[in-house]
Amino acid sequence: MNEFEAGRPVVLRGGTVLPMSPRGSRRVLPRTDVLVTGDRIAAVGPELAAPEDAVVIDASGGLVMPGMIDTHRHMWQTALRGYGADWTLTQYFVWFYLEHGKLFRPEDIHAGNTLAAIEALDAGVTTVVDWSHGLRTVDHADAAADALESVPGRYVLAYGNIQQPPAEWTAAPEFRDFVRRRVTGGDMLGFQIAFDVLGDPSFPERPAFEVARELGAAVTTHAGVWGATSDDGIRLMHEHGFMTPETIYVHAASLSADSYHRIAATGGSISVSTESEQSAGQGYPPTWAVRAHGIPVSLSMDTSVWWSGDLFSAMRATLGADRSREHLEAHAKGETVTHCGLRADQVVEWATRGGARALGRDDLGVVEPGAKADLVLVKNEHSPVSFPILNPFGHVAFQAQRGDVHTVIVNGRVVKHEHRLLGVDLAAARARVERTVEHLRSTMGDEAWEKGMNPDIPSAKVLDNPYTYTDYRSDATHRL
Ligand SMILES: [Zn+2]
Repeated sequence: MNEFEAGRPVVLRGGTVLPMSPRGSRRVLPRTDVLVTGDRIAAVGPELAAPEDAVVIDASGGLVMPGMIDTHRHMWQTALRGYGADWTLTQYFVWFYLEHGKLFRPEDIHAGNTLAAIEALDAGVTTVVDWSHGLRTVDHADAAADALESVPGRYVLAYGNIQQPPAEWTAAPEFRDFVRRRVTGGDMLGFQIAFDVLGDPSFPERPAFEVARELGAAVTTHAGVWGATSDDGIRLMHEHGFMTPETIYVHAASLSADSYHRIAATGGSISVSTESEQSAGQGYPPTWAVRAHGIPVSLSMDTSVWWSGDLFSAMRATLGADRSREHLEAHAKGETVTHCGLRADQVVEWATRGGARALGRDDLGVVEPGAKADLVLVKNEHSPVSFPILNPFGHVAFQAQRGDVHTVIVNGRVVKHEHRLLGVDLAAARARVERTVEHLRSTMGDEAWEKGMNPDIPSAKVLDNPYTYTDYRSDATHRL
């Protein structure tokens, strides 16, 4: 019998628990147990009595936190992990939107999604919004959903198709049929509609918003992306009454205060992908500005074509970018920041409860009785970075990394234990991804493949220097 057979109670003993509740609190519970029965957290407290058949996991010396939630990840692109490390957003658009995105077959979407889903679980990301904009046929969409259902995490399929205007693909009968067949209201696979609003004054996206409204699906949209989406898109959505509390604005990195006011007033949230915004050029990672408007934030990593699929990196990058901007703004005024505005516990909240809120899920992102049992134990006895843990939130945000994820529980089921995934066929996932890479590479041809990965470097000149080079060190030595 599998020690971690589904349905068996689990008790995490003696960890330091970060309950992330009540909202905004820095509460930490030392030497605390967490009892899981069924798909829920049954109790949180010291030395809990547990059912006789409960699996006991020693959490001492570790941190127990809610499973992390990523609200925007193009999972299909994980088959090309790291390929675009040196891209700008323009190069990404050309590669995926214009030139090669069409080469992805349903099995390639399946391969990317499967690997991305496994990768998320391994890193303690228990819920992912699959911002799936490569669904150019419903066969692709079925493949995406099949892959998500094959890996025991929690997902939201955000259905999108970059090869057609949103008004077209959302009106297609086969799309309606897909929704009827696959969107069952189940707890493990949610549904959103994903498209961008380009700012055309005639608002051609209107029918797609109407479909989303009729289906009761939230819209997620790349907003405030330099050169692609702007304040005009936000204004059009607002004027036509399509900004709702469920709407997720991804990036929102190059928007005016007016757009932030509209988002704040309509209750939506912003998904910040700091690693992405820093490299690709959507705009400066916006948390430093968004915080001033009181808009809820969640974190995301965008795509493994460039970045890391774990939210430790996202938390770290977000703290760094926010503080960097705060210092820079102060220095421009001749001032000095003496107290950081953004704290470590805040980014941990964004990575957990913030994501849950964005998805309208009060039962996720917290460690408290009655909540869904999506849990992460951060503990690594073999790591010199695992102690001392003096500041648990600071430890999660700046010290911990994916290799420190010891145990992951999703919906009451242990999916990773002692740093090993359980019941996941990594070899099969690898074989699928290898076939996808081979298909793309052979269809594109070696030259295009290499050129796509290695964009030209703009010429840069070393500046003229008014000082003449002098080797001070050898001069000094000579004098001695
Ligand atoms: Zn994106």
